Amino acid sequence: MKKDQNGKKEKRRQDTSANESETPATVSEQLRLSPVLDYPRYRVNPGQQIKLADINPDESEQYRNKDDVKDELKRQRDRIQDLQERLYAEQKQSLLVVLQAMDTGGKDGTISHVFEGVNPQGCQVWPFKVPSAEELAHDFLWRYHKKGPSRGMVTIFNRSQYEDVLVVRVKNLVPQKVWKTRYDQINEFERTLALNNTTIIKFFLHISKAEQKRRLESRLKDPTKHWKFSSNDVKERAYWDDYMAAYEDAVNKCSTAHAPWYVVPANKKWYRNLVVARTIADTLEAMNPQYPPGEEGLEHIKIPD
Ligand code: ADP
Repeated sequence: MKKDQNGKKEKRRQDTSANESETPATVSEQLRLSPVLDYPRYRVNPGQQIKLADINPDESEQYRNKDDVKDELKRQRDRIQDLQERLYAEQKQSLLVVLQAMDTGGKDGTISHVFEGVNPQGCQVWPFKVPSAEELAHDFLWRYHKKGPSRGMVTIFNRSQYEDVLVVRVKNLVPQKVWKTRYDQINEFERTLALNNTTIIKFFLHISKAEQKRRLESRLKDPTKHWKFSSNDVKERAYWDDYMAAYEDAVNKCSTAHAPWYVVPANKKWYRNLVVARTIADTLEAMNPQYPPGEEGLEHIKIPD
């Protein structure tokens, strides 16, 4: 994946206003105004056709161990906390973070490490499991749209609309002619959210098959991790190559300017946390949330005894 060539930050103004007069005239103009992230490392550019086999899940830049990233991770978390507070106060736009990974890929660990210290009032995590009968009776996007962020919120999807072109495709839960149309539907759905002041970023936490084996074995060995072990994960592992093909298609067909995919090397948990934290902090910064002005004349107010 290409690095940022000049290393410079490119910021564009997000239309953050609910005010009609500040709203761009056309849909394409509004989408152009979506924030462009300033840390494109690992970002899949629209139209790019990546091969997961070409992306090394062991990569960690110049960092060698957890201690090497400790200070940097703290800096990124501080940025997220500050920007999230502004976003919450501003109440004009929202951020949707989509997390996808193979079993044991580290979605839960990423959430707890990256969002440590964030005000829980402004942050929601929604896990998506096997759909209920009611969910299956609706269009596949219904349950995701319902959980999308309201203004001011950071919402994390732990699994997402992409399951409907991943597990559903790999396990033949619907015919091919049904899931094939879903990439376009997902792109349209995300475009609709983007047009309504939601910034979207999507992470695929990329681990190797050998690393998954190590993680499953360590769950088996440690009684405090038994609750995390599911025999179903072992069964799903047999479909590894099919999942890789399905992920490749999802990432290649659905990385758009307004909802980019990032393929994050995730064998090293500490590096994965750093990359995700840095990308989220940069995204929030590009959204440029502002504290709203206070009432007029605050300087004259005296609080009575
Ligand atoms: P997680 O692995 O996310 O921590 P679980 O172990 O409960 O949580 O697994 C959730 C399961 O739900 C996964 O096997 C996933 O493939 C499945 N799932 C999620 N969305 C769908 C869907 N739309 N259709 C079928 N299965 C789904």
